[in-house]
Amino acid sequence: MQDCIFCKIVNKEIPSTIVYEDENVLAFNDINPVTPVHILVIPKKHIESLAEIKEEDEELIGKIHTTIKKIANQVGILDKGFRVIVNCGEDGGQEVKHLHFHILGGKKLGTKIA
Ligand code: 5GP
Ligand code: ZN
Repeated sequence: MQDCIFCKIVNKEIPSTIVYEDENVLAFNDINPVTPVHILVIPKKHIESLAEIKEEDEELIGKIHTTIKKIANQVGILDKGFRVIVNCGEDGGQEVKHLHFHILGGKKLGTKIA
């Protein structure tokens, strides 16, 4: 999508520090990390949010999860653990309207999630 920051990152029109890339999925460091490891994993296809996922996207969404595991292993947080967050819509605090999965790790996180 033309005005989407994350589509621009996919198309390399905006630079990012890429940690994983394949045909359908891209992962890069969050520009404003809130934990020592803060990676965003996105489908290359523009899907606005979790609320816009369709049945035809099931394979892609599954793939994103195995990719998250691979990335966690790659950056050395798989054994200690990490948190995955998807903000959706206004009440969910979603700022960028391109589906993304936050991987947060590298320190012990609190137990409160809201
Ligand atoms: P949201 O609140 O939509 O779930 O999270 C959006 C995330 O994208 C935020 O953590 C923010 O720091 C990150 N972000 C926004 N713009 C950019 C950018 O241009 N590059 C990178 N790498 N991250 C971005
Ligand atoms: Zn997009």
